Amino acid sequence: MSATIIDGKAIARLVRERIAREVTELPDAPGLATVLVGDDPASAVYVSSKRKQCVQAGMRDLHQHLPGDISQHKLATTLEQLNADPKVTGILLQLPLPDHLDAAALVARIDPDKDVDGLTTLSAGRLAQGAPGLRPCTPSGVIELLDASEIPIESAHAVVVGRSELVGKPLAQLLLQRNATVTICHSRTRDVNAVCKQADILVAAAGVPGLIGAESVKPGATVIDVGIHRTDDGLRGDVDFAAASEVAGAITPVPGGVGPMTIAMLLQNTVTAAAASYAKRRAAGVF
Ligand code: NAD
Repeated sequence: MSATIIDGKAIARLVRERIAREVTELPDAPGLATVLVGDDPASAVYVSSKRKQCVQAGMRDLHQHLPGDISQHKLATTLEQLNADPKVTGILLQLPLPDHLDAAALVARIDPDKDVDGLTTLSAGRLAQGAPGLRPCTPSGVIELLDASEIPIESAHAVVVGRSELVGKPLAQLLLQRNATVTICHSRTRDVNAVCKQADILVAAAGVPGLIGAESVKPGATVIDVGIHRTDDGLRGDVDFAAASEVAGAITPVPGGVGPMTIAMLLQNTVTAAAASYAKRRAAGVF
């Protein structure tokens, strides 16, 4: 069998077009404050791409570039100012931060209603309880890929390899909310291959290059590869793509699968946060 390729680039483009339409229907343009601390080149590239796509979707780019030696207190104060600024409807603190800063304590300062990365404890609690809120972008992107590819989630056995706060855990919760039967594998799981082989939907998010081979895939299963690894031969994922695509029914490539979805879902979260903020202000008679 040769699997259908799930084209994340094309699906992300459709999501961005949908978001640009949604922006025009809002009473005011959303404002995304990306906060970049220091000059880490990889972070600078990610942030610049987020800002560019934000502007292309018709949103305000309210970027803040702060010095790498900024104090914990000063950065916390900046975040409080962004929380209080009505033009800022979304805040993204680019991680990782320089070593002298306590990232968890700073993320905790972000207003959960502006937490477009979905990383605050309140956002995680809202997700766990199925309450409305902002969800982490990469897991939401995986769900969007499955929906756009018309892969049924309800009643499917979904196996998520990885249990990080950023990807594995929130993704397992999103799949559960969509009525999948969810199994989570992690570094202490006995016989990961045997568990993966039972999956109708297999998501690899372990951060181990080539962890998932043909022997881990049930014939016809959908395989979503979240992993990203820079190698001498370019980007590759957690899945041995050539081998797994002989067995899977559908599969995401790396690059061009989950990666492009992450920023698209950030834009989606920024619209969602702005719409909720405007609805609140309308109720208070501001619009
Ligand atoms: P992480 O290191 O925080 O978590 C990895 C998880 O995988 C852990 O829960 C660990 O228990 C589990 N694990 C590790 N080795 C395992 C093994 N051999 N078998 C089973 N489970 C194992 O990583 P993360 O932040 O969740 O990221 C995972 C991967 O996804 C990385 O490659 C990262 O670069 C990539 N990523 C991609 C995007 C994107 O936009 N595509 C976004 C975030 C992360």
